[in-house]
Amino acid sequence: MKKSGKTKQRMRQRVLDHKSTSIYFLVWSVFSLVAFLTALLCSLFQPYVVRNTYERQLSLDIARKGREVESIIERYGADVTTAERYSALIRGLAIANNVEVYVLYENGEVLFPYPEVSDQFPIRTDFSSEIKELTSQLEQNDEKSVVYSTDRECVYGSAMGAYKGEKTYLYVAESTEFLKVIMREIQVRIWFIAVLVFIISFAISSALTGFLVEPLALMREKTNRLARGDFDVDFLDGAYGEEIVELAQTLNFARDEISKAGRMQRELIANVSHDFKTPLTMIKSYASMIREISGEIPEKRNKHALVIEEEADRLTALVNDVLELSKLASGIGELRLEKINLSSYLYEILNRFEYLSETQGYQFIVDIDEGLYTSADKLKIGQVLYNLIGNAVNYTGEDKRVFVSLKGDGLGSCFTVRDTGKGIKDEDLSAIWERYYRSSEMHKRPVKGTGLGLSIVKSALDRHGFVYGVRSKLGVGSEFYVIFPKA
Ligand code: ADP
Repeated sequence: MKKSGKTKQRMRQRVLDHKSTSIYFLVWSVFSLVAFLTALLCSLFQPYVVRNTYERQLSLDIARKGREVESIIERYGADVTTAERYSALIRGLAIANNVEVYVLYENGEVLFPYPEVSDQFPIRTDFSSEIKELTSQLEQNDEKSVVYSTDRECVYGSAMGAYKGEKTYLYVAESTEFLKVIMREIQVRIWFIAVLVFIISFAISSALTGFLVEPLALMREKTNRLARGDFDVDFLDGAYGEEIVELAQTLNFARDEISKAGRMQRELIANVSHDFKTPLTMIKSYASMIREISGEIPEKRNKHALVIEEEADRLTALVNDVLELSKLASGIGELRLEKINLSSYLYEILNRFEYLSETQGYQFIVDIDEGLYTSADKLKIGQVLYNLIGNAVNYTGEDKRVFVSLKGDGLGSCFTVRDTGKGIKDEDLSAIWERYYRSSEMHKRPVKGTGLGLSIVKSALDRHGFVYGVRSKLGVGSEFYVIFPKA
């Protein structure tokens, strides 16, 4: 991905002015902490492990060398005629095995080698603390020989025969001083590596955070644009990483919904104004007609006045619906829940349609279970039932039949209203619940419709949380249903 200089600069700025809760800071802290802990653990355990391994190896080594030296002394020592020669033998063994070899008295004094034999080597003379350690080790182990480590050296020691009536000990030692140097060296290197890891983690976390933060910052910019009304923003553009792509898809969905809501709002205003204008024009024209033409002719005047009345009614219905819908949509007005006898309430509402059966031959085929109750806002549920039955009346077929049923079971009751009309196309099934949706076909309507009926139904039922829906078959009819939970 090629970034412009400006974007890069902005990114760098973002990385620089990170806050303690920023992703940058979090990633960086985690990386640094891990680097520091790794170095700490290494510096604690590495020397321990290395030292242990070395010491084990040294112990084996000194045990082997010690036994060798001991066996040579035992084998050839007896043949050596003078003390100087004995001393030279021990010195020779020390050099050959690259260790220090001494024969010590019990008080820590050196019996062999004599200092004069080994003048080119600095010779230790005071073994008082070493001999104490050796004798106590021999005592503890109850062996003829022992191998152990002190903080300075690795020792093979054994009890030898008496010399001029005094007990003597063989002391073979290899210095472990070099181990300390190695440990120090390792420690320095570990901390050097830690600093290196720290720097690398800084670099990686910066790069990683940039990688993570860049699409988020891009989204923030686009969201601002969206907030300012730019619906052309595409959140997927420049998004990478599964989670961020998913977020971008969600934001794109939100953008579509917002833009749809805006479009519907504009359509609603356009439709409402249009629907207000039509009856107002009619009222104005008929009023003028009464004034100019029909005022004196009672028959005509009455006919014209009736049209004015009807148009005024239409206007009232429209105003009521718009108000109701805006109240429902904005959530104003509490739901006044009460226990309703649904069965008798439904009869009451059906009574309002009775004039249609009497004057226009509509047939209501009713199947209502008695004594079904629910808990709901009576007024709003009344509107729901009235609108659904009204729609069935408006859209039913030539036979003018409308089927209304209310059936109960243990959990609640199911209201259905079915007509024998043309039905609703599959692609329209979800759209009919939207405000001002109207199918393209015109209907002759015995019940006045404003195009807001179903959206009022939807808002009211959504607020109650009731289940509802529609089933429809083209050419056969539609059935709307609502499930009322038991009170
Ligand atoms: P309207 O005042 O136009 O009836 P509604 O919101 O009540 O407004 O209905 C919206 C649209 O849904 C109607 O215009 C119609 O196309 C469709 N519709 C509603 N009820 C039925 C039905 N029973 N049969 C067929 N179409 C229906």
